Amino acid sequence: MRKHTIFFIFMVCLTNILCQTKGQAKNDKIYMSPGGTLDNIFDHYGNKYDPSDILIGNKRESLSGTANKSTNPAPMSCGFFNLYFETGSGMEDASNPVHMARRNVVCRVFNDLSDFINSPLKTNGLNNKVNIWVRNINNAIPAPNTPSGVLGLASSFYSMPYNATAGFGGISDNEIWKTIHLGTDSYDGVFSPVNSNGSSSGVSGLFYHGMMAFNFSDSSINWNTDLSVASFPGLYDLYSVVLHEITHAVGFSSLINASGNSKFGTGFNYFTRYDAFLKNSTSTEFLLKKAASACGEMYNYSFNNVLSNSILSPPNNLCSSKIRYVGLSNVPVFTPPGFTESSSLNHFDGSCVSSNPNFVTESAYATNSIRRYLKQEEKNVLVDLGYSVNSTFGVGTTYNGTTSYSGQLTGISVAGSNDGINYTNGTITFTGNPGTAINLSNLLSNDFDAAGFECLEDIFDSTATLSVTSGTAGTSVTYSSSVAGLHLLRYIPVNSSGKKGNITYVYVYINEQNNCTPPTGTGCNPNANLVINPQFESFLPSQGIGNINKACNWSDAHIITGGADYFNGNYGDPEIKTPCNMMGYQPDNVTNNKGYAGMVVRKSYGNQIYSESIKTTLASPLLPNTKYRLSFQVSLAEGNSKNAIKFQAYLSNNSTSYPGYGEIPISNPSMLFTDSNYATSASTWKTITFDFTTGNVAGQTTLYLGGLSNIDFISNTPSPQGVNGCGYYNYNDSSVPNDFGACYYFVDNVSITALENTIDMTLDLPQYICPNNVISDMSLYLTGSYFNGTFSGNGVSGNTFSANAAGLGTHTIYYTYTNTSGCIITISDVVFVTDRESICGPANNCPQNYSFYTTETNPSVIYKASEYIYTGSHYLVQSGNSVDFKAGKYILMEPDSEIEYGASFSAIIEDCQTNITRISAKSLPEVEQNENALQIYPNPAGDFLNIKTLSPLTKVEIYDTSGKKVNFRLDGNRANVSHLVSGNYIITVETKENKYTKKFIKK
Ligand SMILES: [Zn+2]
Repeated sequence: MRKHTIFFIFMVCLTNILCQTKGQAKNDKIYMSPGGTLDNIFDHYGNKYDPSDILIGNKRESLSGTANKSTNPAPMSCGFFNLYFETGSGMEDASNPVHMARRNVVCRVFNDLSDFINSPLKTNGLNNKVNIWVRNINNAIPAPNTPSGVLGLASSFYSMPYNATAGFGGISDNEIWKTIHLGTDSYDGVFSPVNSNGSSSGVSGLFYHGMMAFNFSDSSINWNTDLSVASFPGLYDLYSVVLHEITHAVGFSSLINASGNSKFGTGFNYFTRYDAFLKNSTSTEFLLKKAASACGEMYNYSFNNVLSNSILSPPNNLCSSKIRYVGLSNVPVFTPPGFTESSSLNHFDGSCVSSNPNFVTESAYATNSIRRYLKQEEKNVLVDLGYSVNSTFGVGTTYNGTTSYSGQLTGISVAGSNDGINYTNGTITFTGNPGTAINLSNLLSNDFDAAGFECLEDIFDSTATLSVTSGTAGTSVTYSSSVAGLHLLRYIPVNSSGKKGNITYVYVYINEQNNCTPPTGTGCNPNANLVINPQFESFLPSQGIGNINKACNWSDAHIITGGADYFNGNYGDPEIKTPCNMMGYQPDNVTNNKGYAGMVVRKSYGNQIYSESIKTTLASPLLPNTKYRLSFQVSLAEGNSKNAIKFQAYLSNNSTSYPGYGEIPISNPSMLFTDSNYATSASTWKTITFDFTTGNVAGQTTLYLGGLSNIDFISNTPSPQGVNGCGYYNYNDSSVPNDFGACYYFVDNVSITALENTIDMTLDLPQYICPNNVISDMSLYLTGSYFNGTFSGNGVSGNTFSANAAGLGTHTIYYTYTNTSGCIITISDVVFVTDRESICGPANNCPQNYSFYTTETNPSVIYKASEYIYTGSHYLVQSGNSVDFKAGKYILMEPDSEIEYGASFSAIIEDCQTNITRISAKSLPEVEQNENALQIYPNPAGDFLNIKTLSPLTKVEIYDTSGKKVNFRLDGNRANVSHLVSGNYIITVETKENKYTKKFIKK
């Protein structure tokens, strides 16, 4: 009796694209790849899985109910494979000798295969392995389809994007193939570590790459597990069946169904490399592909219409008309009369080969037969598929289990690993704004043996532009698209021999910018609301559920489809109208307003934390060391909340949208704000307010709102449902796990305002300027964060202010600059050009020369001249009077110039200042100063200048005559001026009541 190894297709509603309902899918779908774009997992029978279905261990419960059924998370290592045994697999009990005997056989196959196939896994320290799920066959094929008479089954998993475009798709390499070729986990770059809880475990080893199951429950099937014996009548050889099945799993399998379409179904137009070698008996290829130059070698295959579909379902099984596999070998393929999805095209037909080689991959097995190594032709298939293999197979301890091969043994070394996910925080690496150039760097750095890439394209956006579609590792690639949201690109890595690796995907995210014109912001006014469209009243008229992006300048905090909602009374859709919508009855809190946001916020679902949130870019970044008030209103949606949760806000320095649902990374905990009082009312809006002060480094640009981090719950009495006949969503559902707490919040009226008037720069010019004086560089009087700008005003030329050009009087000097927020700011200060003697000294106090010929009439006088002083013969200083001569060059007294006894007289040669600049702080009162109120001594000063005032000092500043402030150290009432160069200085002294100014000389 012969038993067929057969396969079953079970038709259940696994395809979420076909089966999801609008409301349920919106709130329940948990994506693991960004946007769910690669969450489509298939086996080669065409069964579709969620990523959670193939998550190793019971990391969380699956929504589709087909998840990990009590599989031991501790694997058995066999070569570069890890085997995980599900309860009921017949191998799960390590204390059961029958189970262990089976395990040893299975492990022997995987060890032999690991020795046979070359892989960088072998040189990577085996940190990465191929993870095989050894299943209970009754779970792998659930009742009522539980098989009888099936020996076993196996498949790799395949992950790929959905695209309904006709002909789209191509060659899909499976996850076992990719992992063996890459030497790293093929799911790296597929699933976000944030969503799969992979970030803490290093990502690798989280998902199964393939599965297999053997029938140990059918009492009519008995197994040989003794590899040393030559004969075992009535028993099936477990080694031979395992080798047969794993050969399917590594890629000896077809995805062509009876109609010539892909077994994966509509929108997944993918085939295998194996399919590309299939021909009819007259050498017509089964798959129609474009020329290699049009990327046809890997993309966009379809069944060759020249062939009739009937060829797949032949009326007889004549060897003369057999479909053939034509690669390194040319072998007839098993095609029974009537197409059998599980078997047709997937096996070699040795009965049509003279001297039947008894292929391992024959469609049926008999008892007491041994096929413990691949035949030459089957080895050639592995090479055609791209595996690099050794020239021998098996170990001598196995009876009839070794062979040597001739011919080509080198496969395709090159393989690609997906790009675009940052594994430290799950963010998308390649992001940018619509229409801007995004540099796609290092696409090949994580690939294996990739010398270049080709056929780079955006899968969904035909308007996107790429600077190049092919190149080498060093080629600069820039990408641009005007379509906001997640983009998926694909390329083919190629090696230096021109071999082509697997289709490799790249995530790119185009920031959601306000795709409508928001209200004119006044964010450059520090007292204005930094939140643009704070009341959600500016919106796009097109409508749809899960579309917060319809509110101008607002978007979802996650890269998802159908996330947080936007409600507006102008919409016609009753589910998203206000005040009555799918989530309850809730009027806008502001009269005549009609718009607000809404989001579901959840605790965990199994181990998966799962929540919606929204974000908006502020009109300008937060300033450092500034006090702000953040405020918004929330209302619980009525009736639908099992629990009430905390509501949170976070201010971030970047505007990232994060993959999947869930919490967002909080890099700055001081900017996370949690409402600890819980909003529990569905009938009123609660205002939540946080006051906070930014630190030395601020610059936050983006506000996030929702359930963001460590989401927390308390019990809540459900609010009334169906008020005014409005909708509601019942989260209080006993079918979901107890910890699956959820509720829904409406959000409106968001604001962030500065509580203090703050600007980034100030201008503090000298208050008084004397004629003839110039401030050569006014930028020296700017303080704060410097921004390049321009001065304007009377007397201004460039950075220079000329008192003469401005003229006497008060002048306002302006400085205009653009700050980091793009705000144009003008600051100003007032200067007063004055010739007041108390400030500038006597006018003309230093003429070029004096000449005296008569009796001096001033009782006490000092004459200063820049050049000379001359006295004629009748010059007389009388007794009791005092005269001092000071001249820059000489003093000449003619004979008979007379100084009487009792007079005071001196004649000194010294320089004479022609003018001085008076510098003062801005609040210096324009009153004559009490000369006694400030005393400084000694003057001229040596190392120190003592300061004496009527009341305690509050501030002391020293300026040179050009108006530049100089540094010095104040020690009590004594200024250390020892470092100042000799010359004239101005000292300004402030007390609590007043400011004073005096000139002093540094010796
Ligand atoms: Zn088979």
